[in-house]
Amino acid sequence: GALSIEREEKAIQGNLADWSGVWVYAECRHGRLAPVATELLGAGRKLAEKRGVSLSAVLLGSQIDGMAEELIAYGADKVFVVDDPALASFTDDAYGNALSALAKKHKPEIILAGATAIGRSFIPRVATTLATGLTADCTDLAIRDEDGALLQTRPAFGGNIMATIVCPHTRPQISTVRPLVMKPLIRDAARKGEIIAVNLDPATLKPRIKVLESVVEDLDRVNLSEADIVVAGGRGLENEKGFAMIRELADVLGGAVAASRAAVDSGWIPYPHQVGQTGKTVAPKIYIACGISGAIQHLVGMQSADTIIAINRDADAPIFDVATYGIVGDVFEIVPKLIEKFKER
Ligand code: FAD
Repeated sequence: GALSIEREEKAIQGNLADWSGVWVYAECRHGRLAPVATELLGAGRKLAEKRGVSLSAVLLGSQIDGMAEELIAYGADKVFVVDDPALASFTDDAYGNALSALAKKHKPEIILAGATAIGRSFIPRVATTLATGLTADCTDLAIRDEDGALLQTRPAFGGNIMATIVCPHTRPQISTVRPLVMKPLIRDAARKGEIIAVNLDPATLKPRIKVLESVVEDLDRVNLSEADIVVAGGRGLENEKGFAMIRELADVLGGAVAASRAAVDSGWIPYPHQVGQTGKTVAPKIYIACGISGAIQHLVGMQSADTIIAINRDADAPIFDVATYGIVGDVFEIVPKLIEKFKER
């Protein structure tokens, strides 16, 4: 029971000082690196320099040629590549086993991964396998001067406080980090690094889950997380027709459509469009909030937008506290006028 688990933990952990180096799990999907991979290399570079250790990326997948070079251009000193048909589709167990096996062998002191659907899904498994902790959803990372420990900051209590978490007794220190929070380095194709191709024991990779079919969701033409302009709707839009109206505004502006949780819960628009604490974080150049009150759980997902334009008929709505420009009025009058004006241009 408890005793044997403890022994197993000790066996994995060994001497904490043996764990060295910063690792970034470089997420890729459908043959493309996720933007969060390069963001984490930017953050990881700073941590590695402060610790005086190397920065490595871990690339898992099938037919992922060319990506390792890309990771070096974005700051990795080393890239561990496991290119195996068993990793063609993401599964928690194959990906979790692969990353755990690499970490057990090479003993990094820090592992960073994106707090994406994939990272959130398999990184907890890696933490458990390595008998260490995990801080999910970090928004800031730093190294503590006294002992070199990783300071992992994340919102707690619905974003009302920021908690800083340390992992004092076990290694690696593992964090998942919100996309769009960290800044990537400028790509430098002249940067030199080492690519290490790893063949793992097939038994390690053999997933217990078989992927029968992957269905790619037909989202917007414009990806919400990467869009420069986001038009968002809330309960004030009243129904799906209201959303058709803001989709038209988004199309005219070449932007993406987002929503508050109230609108998603009402079934007017699917969940992938939700922005906020339990949805996506976006940081567009322009965020147009239509009929959204501005609850703290919504604001945490969009308040770092460069320019926020709010349309709400209640002049006291909290959204106006964060808005760069506010329009007090009825969305059903104002949005059609905006569409008309932008169409003229
Ligand atoms: P409301 O708060 O009902 O606001 C509607 C607004 O529309 C009002 O300000 C009203 O004045 C205005 N309005 C109405 N009619 C018109 C009109 N014709 N013209 C102009 N304005 C009009 N919320 C999120 O958005 N994202 C999250 O990820 C999220 N996560 C949550 C997690 C937790 C744990 C909890 C407790 C809550 C979470 N919420 C989240 C919910 C959040 O607290 C709010 O309930 C939600 O954001 C409200 O959505 P809303 O602004 O669309 O609706």
